[in-house]
Amino acid sequence: MWHGLSEVYTVCTACLFLTLLENLSIFAQSGTIPPHITNLQCKQLSTMEKKGIINNSSTDPNKILPMQYKWAREHYKSGVANNWTPEEISMQLDIELWKKDGPDGLSEEERRMILWNLGFFSTAESLTANNLVLAVYNHVTNPEARQYLLRQAYEEAVHTDTFIYCCDSLGLDPDEIYNMYEKIPSIKAKDDFVVDFTKSVFDPNFKTDTSENIQKFVHDLIGFYVIMEGIFFYAGFAMMLAMKRQNKMVGVGDQFQYILRDESIHLAFGIDLINTIKEENPEIWTEEFKADIIEKMKESVELEKAYVDDAMPKGILGLNPTSVKEYVEYIADRRFERIGLPLQYNTKTPFPWMAEVIDMPKEKNFFETKVTEYKTGGSLEW
Ligand code: MN
Ligand code: FE
Repeated sequence: MWHGLSEVYTVCTACLFLTLLENLSIFAQSGTIPPHITNLQCKQLSTMEKKGIINNSSTDPNKILPMQYKWAREHYKSGVANNWTPEEISMQLDIELWKKDGPDGLSEEERRMILWNLGFFSTAESLTANNLVLAVYNHVTNPEARQYLLRQAYEEAVHTDTFIYCCDSLGLDPDEIYNMYEKIPSIKAKDDFVVDFTKSVFDPNFKTDTSENIQKFVHDLIGFYVIMEGIFFYAGFAMMLAMKRQNKMVGVGDQFQYILRDESIHLAFGIDLINTIKEENPEIWTEEFKADIIEKMKESVELEKAYVDDAMPKGILGLNPTSVKEYVEYIADRRFERIGLPLQYNTKTPFPWMAEVIDMPKEKNFFETKVTEYKTGGSLEW
């Protein structure tokens, strides 16, 4: 017999659910289900079943409260707190230096290194934005995680805009910069690697409804977040920020520094997402899968090292290719660590100052902050 709504509301959630089911079956038998009762049941079901961060057909993507994944919300708030636009940074000194010839200007090696990084990042940012919106968003159905993805997508648009601004300011030929990802083999190799690595998720029929496909999705997320944003971006960050430390191309350096700060949150979100899917679907994290991921990540480290040798064959003042490649190994180990895989390199960071660079006032660096790595600018040797 139907107790009436007021009576139902005084019992606990589980009892309420059972009571409703019981009442529904009574009404179903009598063939008269009042609409307000089915609505109430739907509300209970959606709250109770708001479980699982991906492909949860019972999750209403429009109901963000109550939140299940607080970390997604925290990353969203951190992203918003870091708001910036490229125009806030003056490019005047860079423009002067870029145009200067002779011993006071930039060397050929320095110019090459800058161009290679502008070439890689200008298109990599768009690639990342497209992956996010066209592939990741579709399968991550939890509303608070989606809220973060929207924020990240906006930041990728800001990053894309940054390279438009750099091209404009320095008077670079857009055809040259934006075609580098097709014409420069070491850049093409990195982009091709990510595109090939993340094929599954772009299949229009792909769904994360089986363990096998959830494993494929995690595989592709590792490609987007850990390899692209977590490894392929970092030699460039180190090279451009090392240059800035010598007071050269400080505007471009500041742009890279802001991007690095955003990217460290993208990576933190991506890793929380990957680890959450692993926790919710532990059967996918097999020994075979782990071995495959380790292998692929090591391959990506080799591609990143080849990119360093190409962008900076002889090294520039204060920076040699060997130390940048060591930094890539060090960074890769941090990524292995965060997704629960064994360290592969055990390389010490040659750039302890990179941790400080990321650790700017508003945001904490999620990956490199260790007290022992801190040095003051004055103690650095070049
Ligand atoms: Mn970006
Ligand atoms: Fe990003």
